[in-house]
Amino acid sequence: MHRAPTRLRASALAAALITTLALAACQPNAPAITPPTTAKAACTTSTTRSIVVAESIVTNVRRLLAAAKADGVKLCGGGYRDSASQIAVRKANCGTTYYDVYEKPASQCTPPTAKPGTSQHEKGLAIDFESCETRTTACYKWLAKNAATYGLKNLPSEPWHWSTTGG
Ligand SMILES: [Zn+2]
Repeated sequence: MHRAPTRLRASALAAALITTLALAACQPNAPAITPPTTAKAACTTSTTRSIVVAESIVTNVRRLLAAAKADGVKLCGGGYRDSASQIAVRKANCGTTYYDVYEKPASQCTPPTAKPGTSQHEKGLAIDFESCETRTTACYKWLAKNAATYGLKNLPSEPWHWSTTGG
């Protein structure tokens, strides 16, 4: 009695799965990242701007900003980036063809830019700090000395890019 309905459900599930896989296959080089729950950490440069990061690191980022402020260092920047924004950044930094956006190695973009689906920014775990363009800036020097205390590491090729993994 119960066999027929069970089979129907199973085939419906299989059809849904196939549809999902087919859709995923349309973007073979854009692995899906589950958007993080985000929260804001107020910048030390102004009272109205803030850095949006994953909720999992916002307490550390707020502490880092408070410590920088106490040392007279002004910090702000860009944290979380949704996948559409990552694609836009790839187009700006890497080129506009499918290859440029989804396949070109990050190191061949100017500046280097992670492929869509692989950026720590898309997880809310990276921050690009303003005023941190080189290693001689006050921004970089302060972060180099203090960021590790708050769980952030620098990507050596980009003095402005700090993340939980250094990637
Ligand atoms: Zn970055």
